[in-house]
Amino acid sequence: MKKVIIIRYAELYLKGKNRGFFERAFATNIERALKGIRHELHRYSGRYLVEGFEEEETDFIVSRLKKVFGIHSMSVAFETAADMNDIFEAAKLVSRPTGSFKVESHRADKKFPLTSIEISREIGGRLLSYFKTLTVDVHNPSFYVYIDVRENGTALVFGSFFDGADGMPVGTAGKGLLLISGGIDSPVAGHMMAKRGMVIEAVHFHSYPYTSERAQEKVFDLTRILASYCGRIKVHCVNLLGIQEAIGENCPEDEMTILSRRFMMMIAERIARDNGCDMLITGENIGQVASQTAQGLVVTDNAVSMPVMRPLIAMDKVDIMDLAQKVGTYETSIQPFEDCCTVFLPKHPVTKPRLENILKSESVLDKEALIAAALET
Ligand code: ATP
Ligand code: MG
Repeated sequence: MKKVIIIRYAELYLKGKNRGFFERAFATNIERALKGIRHELHRYSGRYLVEGFEEEETDFIVSRLKKVFGIHSMSVAFETAADMNDIFEAAKLVSRPTGSFKVESHRADKKFPLTSIEISREIGGRLLSYFKTLTVDVHNPSFYVYIDVRENGTALVFGSFFDGADGMPVGTAGKGLLLISGGIDSPVAGHMMAKRGMVIEAVHFHSYPYTSERAQEKVFDLTRILASYCGRIKVHCVNLLGIQEAIGENCPEDEMTILSRRFMMMIAERIARDNGCDMLITGENIGQVASQTAQGLVVTDNAVSMPVMRPLIAMDKVDIMDLAQKVGTYETSIQPFEDCCTVFLPKHPVTKPRLENILKSESVLDKEALIAAALET
């Protein structure tokens, strides 16, 4: 008897012509998550099976798999010979000593001498006489014993399901460039898009030496957490200081934030095009701060022609914070380090910028030269 892990994916997107494409991406993602751990990955009747690992590694493997998008649920199962005595031995290990239970069986091997109902009845009966304090409840049991008799002469016996991360396998939905700050929102935005199958690349703007190296480290820490879900993430770091100084010298003080945000978008768009990204991703959220009013977003959006994904746009802050906790970025995000936007924060930022005015202010700047110089950093 050995331990194996059953992986179930959300069937929906695996149907149709693209099934092979999705399955390959799915398997690649699982292999990446299990890199460095001895194991084998096999397909079996619309599911995957991880086997051949050291039993002590089970929990560790499950914890890794919980971060793989596309996995709907998992079960740690005992694999036995398809033999009623062996199945019963495994069922004893899965069963609780007391409480009400139900056995549910599935028989892929139609040549197996018992039908699935007979398997359930037989194993249920043996468990009842073995654990004297058990009762059967087919409608509302306190636990289940699942038995899956396979076509290859083995059976899988398990008792519970772990939730997977759901979503789609990374690599099935293009590539996005995430504008990542050190804040709470942008890492969550990146996570949401990766969960839909998007490969993530990132850009971070700093104002070194006004912002510290430690502030940049924090962004790398956040990106590492994201990468534990979606694999390697390339991070571009751009010094925005030259641009912020040029804006400071030549433009109205209250437009500093909105003008620098437009430059961030323009620079991000160049990087995205040079690196094969299909779209930009930000953690913007309507109404949150001065630059994220409806008018502010209109003016920011106008700076680029590439589509900008804003997955958090209509979420409440508390819900974003909840997600950040679940993803595991929250504690890192709230570490107090200066951000390039806060260094040059105007006392009274415009909250309802008018596009004509902003474009007029921007027109006094040598945009192309400033962008090129920033990209050099
Ligand atoms: P966050 O929590 O993600 O920092 P926020 O609520 O603080 O968001 P802003 O500071 O207005 O809001 O930033 C809005 C979005 O702009 C961020 O979610 C991020 O995508 C992008 N952004 C802001 N600052 C930076 C930066 N220094 N580098 C890269 N992207 C940034
Ligand atoms: Mg921020």
